[in-house]
Amino acid sequence: MSGIDPLKVALDQLALAAEMLDLDPNIHEYLKHPKRVFIVAVPIKMDNSEVKVFTGYRVQHNDARGPYKGGIRYSPEVNLNEVIALAMWMTWKCAVVDIPFGGAKGGVCCNPKQMSLNELERLTRRYTAMIYPIIGPYTDIPAPDVYTDAQTMAWLMDTYSQMNGYLVPEVVTGKPIHLGGSEGREEATSRGVVYCVEEACKDIGMRIKGARVVIQGFGKVGWNAAKILYEEGAKIVAVSDSKGGIYNPEGLNPYKVFEYKKKTDSVINFEGCKNITNEELLELECDILIPAAVENQITKKNAGNIKAKIVAEGANGPTTLEGGKILNEMGVFVIPDILANSGGVTVSYFEWIQNLHREHWSLEEVNAKLREKMVNAYRDVRKMAADKNVDMRTAALMLGVGRVAEALKTLGIWP
Ligand code: NAD
Repeated sequence: MSGIDPLKVALDQLALAAEMLDLDPNIHEYLKHPKRVFIVAVPIKMDNSEVKVFTGYRVQHNDARGPYKGGIRYSPEVNLNEVIALAMWMTWKCAVVDIPFGGAKGGVCCNPKQMSLNELERLTRRYTAMIYPIIGPYTDIPAPDVYTDAQTMAWLMDTYSQMNGYLVPEVVTGKPIHLGGSEGREEATSRGVVYCVEEACKDIGMRIKGARVVIQGFGKVGWNAAKILYEEGAKIVAVSDSKGGIYNPEGLNPYKVFEYKKKTDSVINFEGCKNITNEELLELECDILIPAAVENQITKKNAGNIKAKIVAEGANGPTTLEGGKILNEMGVFVIPDILANSGGVTVSYFEWIQNLHREHWSLEEVNAKLREKMVNAYRDVRKMAADKNVDMRTAALMLGVGRVAEALKTLGIWP
């Protein structure tokens, strides 16, 4: 890891938005703090009968605009400050894309790659039971994030439902489709990234067809973004995962890389490509760079070497404030995380509505509604950037923080 504290990044961003908005200092103070931090020690009987205790978190940052919403991450890197930062970003993100949710995030500090499926199921069920008092369809609705998926969400839903005595699909989103999941949720974050890239291309006069694309992280967000852009005629020249990256300036077929990764557990050594490091990947000659892995990848150390014309942040917090400043000075068009990757939570919102109404929408309906939400959010951010003469990240933060502050101001502080 980079050693940069994501919470410092998130608080610096909030301070910037507060300054630009001339925000009431009392509201700024209020927003600096998550409303609730819940830490649990999750004991699991491992397959070899040994008991291990994992630290789990659920942080609820703000619910002025609606129930808390945010993913659950399983990773050895998970720590309290990271979860608080991610929860804060969720608050701004839901406001930017204008859906009636607040921000939360959860995580368990564990290494899912070294755990069996049975161990992961026991971990998920026990963690769910321990955060049960603070989650619910009208209070806090979890979703998948790094190293969690539709299966994890099915276990979470089942545990919550067993404890209630009836099925509650609306307690979680990102479920398998046959259990109430939404069409298009799996790809939604990436589709949202692509809708934003399409708008940015219009704005800067670039074409997606033939554009060279580099993607860091070949998980749910990275792989789906690669697939969608490939279908639109872009040339995917490099992708990576936690073990390293692969590069072919002539372009690679993401479907074949996906099949290869399924078999070998990594993209590295894929036929016809050169192996590169994640650091080298970010600095490759390309038109569109999509960081879709973890935080703090573009910093003051490497931002000056980035050659992309558009950086579309699929990941949360991939760029530090200093890194972002350098990209702005170089004229790189940055689509910030709280805008670019908000398609996931948007379709999560659609999933929640469908569950509450016991409905199932078609893929066409979901994607049309998603496109409308994303394009509106993109245009709102562009307008803010133009009106206030600021970059896209500052504009997105101003829009998100401003909408939450407006809600808070009207609600007031009880008692
Ligand atoms: P994932 O677990 O499916 O994939 C993560 C990918 O990143 C994997 O390929 C992994 O090998 C790679 N990776 C992990 N650590 C890395 C490192 N240090 N360097 C390079 N690659 C590394 O997770 P995901 O759901 O695709 O999430 C990726 C990012 O997108 C995260 O920042 C997440 O918070 C964000 N995000 C996800 C969603 C969603 O709907 N899944 C929505 C919004 C934002």
